[in-house]
Amino acid sequence: MNSAYRGRIAPTPTGYLHLGHARTFWIAMERAHAAGGCLIFRDEDLDPQRCKPEFAEGAIEDLRWFGCDWQEGPDVGGPSGPYRQSARQALFLKAWKQLKDGGYIYPCDRSRKDVARAAQAPHSDEEAAEPIYPESWRPPLGQGCEATTPGGRNWRFRVPDEYRIQFDDGRLGPCAFECLRDFGDFLVWRKDGVPAYELAVVVDDAAMGISEVVRGEDLLISTARQLLLYGALGLEPPEFYHTPLLCDTAGQRLAKRNRSLTLRELRVAGHLPEQLRQSDDWWSGLDD
Ligand code: GLU
Repeated sequence: MNSAYRGRIAPTPTGYLHLGHARTFWIAMERAHAAGGCLIFRDEDLDPQRCKPEFAEGAIEDLRWFGCDWQEGPDVGGPSGPYRQSARQALFLKAWKQLKDGGYIYPCDRSRKDVARAAQAPHSDEEAAEPIYPESWRPPLGQGCEATTPGGRNWRFRVPDEYRIQFDDGRLGPCAFECLRDFGDFLVWRKDGVPAYELAVVVDDAAMGISEVVRGEDLLISTARQLLLYGALGLEPPEFYHTPLLCDTAGQRLAKRNRSLTLRELRVAGHLPEQLRQSDDWWSGLDD
């Protein structure tokens, strides 16, 4: 490896991987190869209810079968380990504390259902892709600052008012999102004791020295949220490259529930990775 490029693939082991994941990870690998850089495999196994070791092992096995390779990861080791997020709690707690001391986050006892219900109320913003946490529910500034641990509560990031987040995506070009219109106060810590995705991914991408994040374009709004976290934590953000999502013939986005399209099922059915990478499905939506 002779370049500063460091990419990563970061599956969540809540099910077997499908062709859509494989395509995103393949693009991530090609970009790392083209830059003469390094690719890291990170197992995002934080959700204690939904993540299962058999899916984590399955992801490695299926991606290896598919032809992906990486230079650092749970199966090969490396200098930035551990490569399973469940073994990185100390780093996440340190970031939680930094955000809490800086007054960026507050404890919140409202459920997801409460937020969804509030967002259905008349006058709520219908353009938002997901329910916006009502500003009127925010506690006064500074509330929660005295806590020394997350203490079995949800914690949310207070997004700045009237603030536009802009970044240049490697594929999509200039992107912009408006705080409190496109997304509201978001979770950084969960009451079951683990960091929320947004926080864990920022802490780990920074700690692992990732220079470019390649992931599906369903996560564009997450990128905007994560840029706020980079700022609050005083970390340098990476570059971003969002891939198109793979759709099935009915135009539906592939999801883990489409069992027939898991890499596992495709393999058992006798498909070969090279053929899958030449199929029309594979090329659908790719610009070049
Ligand atoms: N674990 C996340 C997922 O599977 C990774 C997203 C990301 O690449 O940041 O959706």
